[in-house]
Amino acid sequence: MPRERERERLLPEVHVWRLLLLWVALLALFGVLVHRLWSLQVAQSSEYQRRLVKQSLRSVRLPGIRGRIYDRNGERLADNQPSYCVSLYLEELRKTGSVQRTVDAVMDTLYRLAETMDRPLQLTPQDVRLHLGRRTPLPLVAWRGLDEVAVARFMEHALEFPGAALTVEPVRVYPQGAVAGHVLGYVGRADDTTLRDYTADHEPETYHYYLPEMAGKSGIEKRLDGLLRANEGGKLEIQVDVTGFKFDEVSTRAPGMGSDITLALDLRIQRAAEQALAGERGAVVVVDPRNGDILALASMPGYNPNDFIPAVPADIWNRLLKDPARPLFNRATGGEYAPGSTFKPVTLLAALESGRIKADTRYSCPGYFDLGSHRFRCWQHWGHGAIDLQAAIRYSCNVYLYHAALDAGADSVQAMARAVGFGRKTDISLDFERAGLVPDAAWKRTARHDNWRDGDTCNLAIGQGALLVTPLQLAMFAAALANGGTLWHPRLMARIVTASGVTNIIPATAVEDGPHWQPQNIRVVRQGMRDAVNQPDGSGKRAMLPNVVVAAKTGTAEYGVKGAGRKMTWMIAFAPYDQPRYALALLVEDGISGGTTAAPRVKQLLTQVFNEVEHMNLPLPAAPLRPAPDPNAPADEEPPAEEPA
Ligand SMILES: [Zn+2]
Repeated sequence: MPRERERERLLPEVHVWRLLLLWVALLALFGVLVHRLWSLQVAQSSEYQRRLVKQSLRSVRLPGIRGRIYDRNGERLADNQPSYCVSLYLEELRKTGSVQRTVDAVMDTLYRLAETMDRPLQLTPQDVRLHLGRRTPLPLVAWRGLDEVAVARFMEHALEFPGAALTVEPVRVYPQGAVAGHVLGYVGRADDTTLRDYTADHEPETYHYYLPEMAGKSGIEKRLDGLLRANEGGKLEIQVDVTGFKFDEVSTRAPGMGSDITLALDLRIQRAAEQALAGERGAVVVVDPRNGDILALASMPGYNPNDFIPAVPADIWNRLLKDPARPLFNRATGGEYAPGSTFKPVTLLAALESGRIKADTRYSCPGYFDLGSHRFRCWQHWGHGAIDLQAAIRYSCNVYLYHAALDAGADSVQAMARAVGFGRKTDISLDFERAGLVPDAAWKRTARHDNWRDGDTCNLAIGQGALLVTPLQLAMFAAALANGGTLWHPRLMARIVTASGVTNIIPATAVEDGPHWQPQNIRVVRQGMRDAVNQPDGSGKRAMLPNVVVAAKTGTAEYGVKGAGRKMTWMIAFAPYDQPRYALALLVEDGISGGTTAAPRVKQLLTQVFNEVEHMNLPLPAAPLRPAPDPNAPADEEPPAEEPA
């Protein structure tokens, strides 16, 4: 593609340009320091020489420069940007006599600066006094994050303010705003005060002063903090006079840089994923079934990580914490949900692989299934008749699944569930991942003080009962269905470029104890999922696309108080059917059903993906409407099973 070549050609230049900007900013900072030094040494040296009784060295640690985060096409997701500050050099403003006289002199300068720049004062006399007491030789930052107008006003009047100077600090910025917020996370001031750099002799260096360093507090920023943070900070050695004010600068060492990280994420797909869930509570994960690349991972509602820089204001924090939709919670990796009928392919593959049933095995569905004195229902109350396995997927028939699971045995269903990744963490590089739960006899004895019963097997067969999965696990399973049986480790990070320019590619890796499916078994399951979307009576027909064959399975799982009608609505899907490049799991909390709520959102998402990434020209569907919840409305697919007696 010419467009991609263009991007590749531009990429190194953009890197260099940004790097230069940062270095120019840093040089400007040091330039100001050197200028001050000159004025002190040359202009006023005799005065100081006379006063000086004793000098001593103070070392200051300068924060390292944090690595940047890019999407797979080089789009910036997290970057550093110079923030303009006005700082005061107290050694030039100090007064003889009581400290209060110096505080007054500094405050007087601050008032005049505030007026000149038309900016509200950010420091109190108490702040100035504290700085004078604890960090005497360091410049006092009076304003941060100044805009161009304020900077211009200051520069115009700079000569009127001896002892004040324009300085720069790098600050973290997330150029895409709230997009991929849960993946990226955010940074905050590092908690540890034990930042250690090492000398050439591997001796730990100690400092008298530390300038604030940023540390990852959530998401990638937190999990990969060790890579993103520079190994080494900068060092500034200053001489102070007997009163503790700066007298001279002895040496500087430029701060080190962290590694840049390129994610497997595709910003275009991430945006489409978030748009598909607009206004909902839910999650969606899109995977490349050929290598396990995480192309999008979204949890809605989200938050804007820029709100957290440099520190989150109390009102925003409280709003995020109290929001019942829990915008800080990453549902994609941390949410544990009953998968409903999206689990049915697990049960059927377990039954096929056990050899107890075959693709042409027929079971009869009269609309219910009696187990002892207890009746389990199919969602279609008048039944599906005698159907084979492929039709059972297409119609999402519950009764077929009860038979298949009981014939295969709970053990084989549980083993298959574990083989496809349920009940264990994927170890994606994100915080707060949960493992979910594959219930079995041992679990039931411990948790419920009861034996495993056939009723539990029936619930498990259709993804109900105590079974819990995360949207990420389900997406990795969807990818395995798409590629015929390879369960990948999710690859969120594609490559790392260290500060010295060494590139490390993170290879795609398959889960070692993943599933083993006979080709004819996975083939029939895939065919059933194709029919579910592309046959007019399929349970997932609302995900059908023109020109691209989509295969999918819907799911609807009741949760919360029995009979309250609250449902988790799902769809897992992959496309194109013959050579899948996208596999996904999409969840909407409190939807109507998988077929009604999730399927049209999958259609919208895949349409955008094929149009924007593959430059197809598919007609954009109307945005999915959200019908008002009506507990009495007839379900168009699987309601939950009855509890076992
Ligand atoms: Zn049925």
